[in-house]
Amino acid sequence: MSFTLFADARLALARDSLTGLSVGDALGSQFFVPGRQPADLLAGRLPPAPWEWTDDTEMACSVLAELVESGRIDRDRLALAFAERAEPYRGYGPGAVTILRLIRTGTPWPVAAASAFDGQGSCGNGAAMRVAPVGAYFADSTTRAAAQARASAEVTHAHPEGIAGAVAVAVAAALAARGRLDGDRPTAHRLLAGVATALDPATEVHRRVRRAADLLGHPLPRVVGVLGNGARVTAQDTVAFTLWVAATYLEDYPAAIRACVAAGGDVDTTAAIVGGIVAAFAGVGTPGGVPTDWLAAREPLPEWLTS
Ligand SMILES: [Mg+2]
Repeated sequence: MSFTLFADARLALARDSLTGLSVGDALGSQFFVPGRQPADLLAGRLPPAPWEWTDDTEMACSVLAELVESGRIDRDRLALAFAERAEPYRGYGPGAVTILRLIRTGTPWPVAAASAFDGQGSCGNGAAMRVAPVGAYFADSTTRAAAQARASAEVTHAHPEGIAGAVAVAVAAALAARGRLDGDRPTAHRLLAGVATALDPATEVHRRVRRAADLLGHPLPRVVGVLGNGARVTAQDTVAFTLWVAATYLEDYPAAIRACVAAGGDVDTTAAIVGGIVAAFAGVGTPGGVPTDWLAAREPLPEWLTS
């Protein structure tokens, strides 16, 4: 069924996705604070507010600002926005710091992105962690979601796996948002199959997304053992795991984030990715959506986005 999705509706979906992403990031990062135990969250006890968001949210806010501004990703403008808005204490990885510094000091983004990791380009999870709102915005076309995700990734991640990670997350968010518009929860198998179709079959991300589909219904520790949990901070080690969680808990945001925390690894990033996809389907302040008390505990988003 084809339909027209007006700009306001697109932005509402993208904003819900960003809310889910930022709350997941901020809550996930709490478990890197000494003394915080995942068992507390699993028992229903929340860490004390405020929960500060990290690089995942800061970059996702720049992505959303692009969509607000022009309804698409302009790579030159996005690269500069990433570079100029990066606050160093937000937990950027060393590779990202280098690329953003090069862009900030005048190196064209294609050169900066290609120079990372001895000319291989970054296959880190940074392009995936910020992209879910792009998918929600293009809920009517997984083809456009994939193309715009690729554009948003390329400015920092030149490696095919880094790009595939972003495409996978955006397509998952597009299918989730489409399911919300249709009032029809995509089954976990359908969601993962839809993502796999959009990916370059030569990538490890594709192989692991296919593997994630085989692991639906399996216990979390087994899934982490096969797919990873982001501990290696690569797209390969992060994205398929997050898609397994999002597909499994698409209608239950708190359960999805608890699964990320229970799994350990790069929890702010896995919870950001999962939160961005699940909130595109489940919403904010709705049954199964982002809980309002969780949202209230999250540090406010940057003023340059909200003012
Ligand atoms: Mg982070």
